[in-house]
Order: sequence, then structure tokens, then C-alpha cells
Amino acid sequence: MHDHHEDEHEQRAPGEDMALRVKALESLLVEKGYVDPAALDALIETYETRVGPRNGAKVVAKAWTEPDFLDWLRRDATAAIASLGFAGRQGEHMVAIENTAETHNLVVCTLCSCYPWPVLGLPPVWYKSPPYRSRAVRDPRGVLAEFGVELPASVAIRVWDSTAEIRYLVIPMRPAGTEGWPAERLERLVTRDSMIGAGLPLRPEAF
Ligand code: FE
Repeated sequence: MHDHHEDEHEQRAPGEDMALRVKALESLLVEKGYVDPAALDALIETYETRVGPRNGAKVVAKAWTEPDFLDWLRRDATAAIASLGFAGRQGEHMVAIENTAETHNLVVCTLCSCYPWPVLGLPPVWYKSPPYRSRAVRDPRGVLAEFGVELPASVAIRVWDSTAEIRYLVIPMRPAGTEGWPAERLERLVTRDSMIGAGLPLRPEAF
């Protein structure tokens, strides 16, 4: 499924105008009988409240604790993730990318806002903003610094541009000091931003 809708590529008017245009479009589609408003509400409710970054956190914690699962993620992330029940729209072709001591990964969609909904829910506003989309590529280290992520100069930053077909999930490095932790406890350290590459996992001391 191709999800780079043409209208998303135009220069966007800020929030309110966009909301009005979406509302007008929805009204028209309902009026013409193309969509069922109840189905639309169910879809939005699903991604707003039931699907969220906690799904991704489960994937990451399992990868941290089960080498076989990590191996499966490397070979076929879509299937490995679907085995946990996280599949569907915007998650048809998942690729897991692992942060290491040498390389930090950052995900962007320079064209619009492609994002792995089944594991992370709906994208944050900043992810869709033109400044993030352009600067993540030109100055990833500067963008990361603004997110409070200061990486040593020796760590290379690799930027992954999502396409309509491929959605990336960053597997952050497991924090030191979490040896022996069960997956359920590790999940709590995994933030949404850490799975986009715009953040790091939380420090274990607080948990
Ligand atoms: Fe996109």
C-alpha cells in the first residue's frame, strides 16, 4: 500500500487549517457514502488509544532478552513483530535497526510522515514537522542535541528515510545495569523516542 498521499507533500498550513480541511474531507466522504463514520472513529480510536509505543517497547525488550527473537527481527522484522500480534496498516514492511556502541540510528520520513503505526501508534507532531524532516538529514547530530541526546563524536549517526514501503523500528542499546531484568521490567525503559532514534532508553536507576 502506498501511503504518500499527494496532499501530504504540499507545504502544510499549520494545525487548525489542516484540521478543518480534514474535517471537510471526512464530511464529504461520509455524505457521498464512501466511508462509514463509525468505522472511521473505530480506526482513530484504535491508533490513538489501543496501539501505542508500548507495543514497540515489548518488541525491544524481547529482543534484549531473547537472542533467537533478535535474530528473527534481523532476518524478518515484519514476521517477528507480527508474532506478537502487532501487524496491519503502516506496518506491512518493517525493518529493525540496531543501535550499537559505534552507530546510532535515527528515523525520518523526508517526504511526509511514514511511521510504523502497529508498534509506535500515531506519530508525534514533531515527526511530521518540516523542520525535523529536513534537518534530520542535514544535521542529525544537531537535531539529536535538541532532543537532549549528546553522543560521543566517535559514534556515527545513520539516518534512515522511511518510504511508503519500509517502516523502521530502532532497537536501542540495552542500558547497562539491567542484567537479569525480566522483559516486563525492561519494557518500562523503552521510550517512543528511543525507538525513532531521537532519544535513548531511560536510566535503570529510576526503576
Ligand atoms: Fe511518508
